Order: sequence, then structure tokens, then C-alpha cells
Amino acid sequence: MTWTCPFCALLCDRFALAVEGDALHLQGSRCTRAQRALAQFAARPVAVPPRVDGVAVALDTAVQAAATLLARARQPLLAGLATDIAGARALYALANACGAILDHARSDALLPQLRTLQDRGLFLTTLAEIRQRADLIVFVGTQPSRHYPEFYARCAGDLARELVFVGTEVDAVAAAEPKAQARSLPWSGDAYTTLALANAIAAGRRVDAPEELRQLIERMRAARYAVIVWEPATLPGPQPALLVEAIDRLLKALNQTTRAGGLALGGDDGVLAVNQTLAWLSGLPLRTGVHASGLAHEPHRYAGARLLADRSVDALLWVASFGAEPAPPPTDVPTIVLAHPALAATPARVFVPVATPGIGADGHLFRLDGTVVVPLARAIDDGLPSVAHVVARITDWLRAQRATA
Ligand code: SF4
Repeated sequence: MTWTCPFCALLCDRFALAVEGDALHLQGSRCTRAQRALAQFAARPVAVPPRVDGVAVALDTAVQAAATLLARARQPLLAGLATDIAGARALYALANACGAILDHARSDALLPQLRTLQDRGLFLTTLAEIRQRADLIVFVGTQPSRHYPEFYARCAGDLARELVFVGTEVDAVAAAEPKAQARSLPWSGDAYTTLALANAIAAGRRVDAPEELRQLIERMRAARYAVIVWEPATLPGPQPALLVEAIDRLLKALNQTTRAGGLALGGDDGVLAVNQTLAWLSGLPLRTGVHASGLAHEPHRYAGARLLADRSVDALLWVASFGAEPAPPPTDVPTIVLAHPALAATPARVFVPVATPGIGADGHLFRLDGTVVVPLARAIDDGLPSVAHVVARITDWLRAQRATA
């Protein structure tokens, strides 16, 4: 069967999923990331039941226990949030019902770029534009095949193109691309200095910069369509937002005389879907709290790890529907876990196994270029409820408890 893979934000939709006995096999690709993820699933009903304090219970009992725990909390945190659009909609309704803060396990990688987008705007491109137009791609400190194995195949078109890896060796997969010429360039000092020099050169200022960096900027100026690719989760240094801003500045300088766009490799575990859903429902992105006084967006203060470490929250609901990662953080805050069955042994007051979008449930996710919503179809019947279903039932219980209190 043709299948859309939910295991990274490339959301590849040109491969097939085969069922052999109980095992699920990827066909048409050797993507190691998808193969590792698929090894966590079996094509049969899951025998892991919901649990309350380690004791197997019916789903209704677990839902009621979760609602009671959230109803008693002064400040709940809904985190992890590895789910799809329907799950995010349900979680936002639950946050409204119990006055919760929402943070995603991948927010640290998403927020620097979001900040640049809010402050200055970003020239972003899409996979289709790269495939059809890009004659030069500059990778800033990233080798895409490490975390996004099908990246080059998704960008491959009829164009011959140059690939330049700055601050890293040539990606071995890129080196094998038939229509590409690949080379690497070391950092000029570090990533911050390199991008500052690149911007100075692009602005025509006299600076002491390595000749190969000057040549690269000239090449970018001469390109018909230059693309800069970076991976927010692996950008070096303590202030990745500054690097994204420097990349943005360079893209803007290039766009004065030619076409150029940026692509961030990220968006895993549904973070783009959850962020977009929150934005259209509330007007605010992740790390927003729904309080009696109104909505509050606190990109630093509402980091889930910080809230747990400071004991600023007294209940945690953790969602991880794509696999055994992201696991809930160790904490003595009372915890509800809605997750892949592999996390059943997690110490939690309440555990509910949930279906994975694209495996045991239908769903929708945003692709990593942020402009395309991709539908996911259920591939097997594992008997598990979706995140949206479980969260909606918790919300109903919570509202019913409040109404009778
Ligand atoms: S690159 Fe990502 S979406 Fe594509 S098959 Fe691999 S894990 Fe799945």
C-alpha cells in the first residue's frame, strides 16, 4: 500500500508499507530513520492496557483519573505534545478547560526561527522550489542525510547543481548525487564569525575574510536561485537565534539582485502542526499559557523543563504518539502519559497507550517547509484510540466534574 511516513517532517509519500506476519516493512526506500521507527510497531492489536498507579484499568477509568488529577492542579503543564493537528486542537481545548501551559518537546529547535520570523520576516523556500529552481544549495553546519535520509531524493530534479557544505564535511549521500557537485568550506573561526563575514562581504564592506568565503558569496550572487539550508536543532553555540538572523540577513541581501530562499530542517514529532494549530486557535505560538487572566506567551519562562525544575507546575500531561521518543522527563510532579505502548513502564500516575498518526490512526501534519498539510492514513488496526479522542474525553470529564462541583 502507498503510505505517508510520519517519522520526520519530510513526510515522504512515495514509498509503500508492507505487512509480513506481524512486522511492518518499508518498501521503496532504505531510510534508516523510518526503519528504526517501524520496528516499534506490530500489525496486530496492542495488548498494553491503560494504567492508573501501575494497575491495568479500562480506558474510562484512566480518563477519569487523568481528569481528576488535572482538575485538582493549580497550574498544569501539557508538554511533549508529539501529536498531529487533531491532537493539538483537542489539547488546546483541554488547556482552556484546566488553565494549562502548552510546550512541545521540540520547542527549543523551533523558537529561534520563530523569533526571527516574528522580528524581521524570513525568506523561506519549499521542497518544490528547490527541486525546480535551485542551482546552488549552501548547507550551514548540517549534513541532511544524518537526520533526514531522503532529503536529497526529495529535492532531486532535472537541474545540475552545486552543493556547498559550510562548517562540516561533504555529506556522503550528497557526494553520490549524479547531477551535483559537492564541496566543503571550513568555518572562518566559528559559525557566528563566518556568517558575520559573509554578511559584510554581501553588503560590500571591506573586511579581512578568507578568499574561499568571498568566492562563495560571489557564487551565491551569481546563482539563479540560491538556497541556504540549516538544522535548528544542531546549530552550534548558545544563541541559535542570532545565527538564524544572520542567515536571514544574508538571504535578504542576496534577494536584492537574485532569488534566494532558506529551508530549516526540523519540525519533527509534529511540532510544526502543533505550533500552527495553536497559532490559528489562539493567535499565539507554543509556550503559551491559558490563564484566568487571559493568554500569556512566555518563550523562555514557559519552557517545560524549566517549569518542572522550578516546580512552577503541579501536574504534567505528556504526549508522545510517534514512538518511544520523546520520553517524559524524570519528575516527581504527578504525571499523565498518553503515548506509544513502549512507554508503558514510565513512572506515571496515569498511562494511556495511543495510536500513531499514519500507523494506527488517520491524521494531518505540516511538512518541514511549513506550507503543506499532509494527510496521513491509518495503515493497521492496532485497537488504540487517537490522542484527540483520549484528550477530548479527559476534557469532557473535567468539565463535567467542574459543573457538578
Ligand atoms: S526521510 Fe523521514 S519521512 Fe522520509 S522515509 Fe525517512 S523518516 Fe520517513
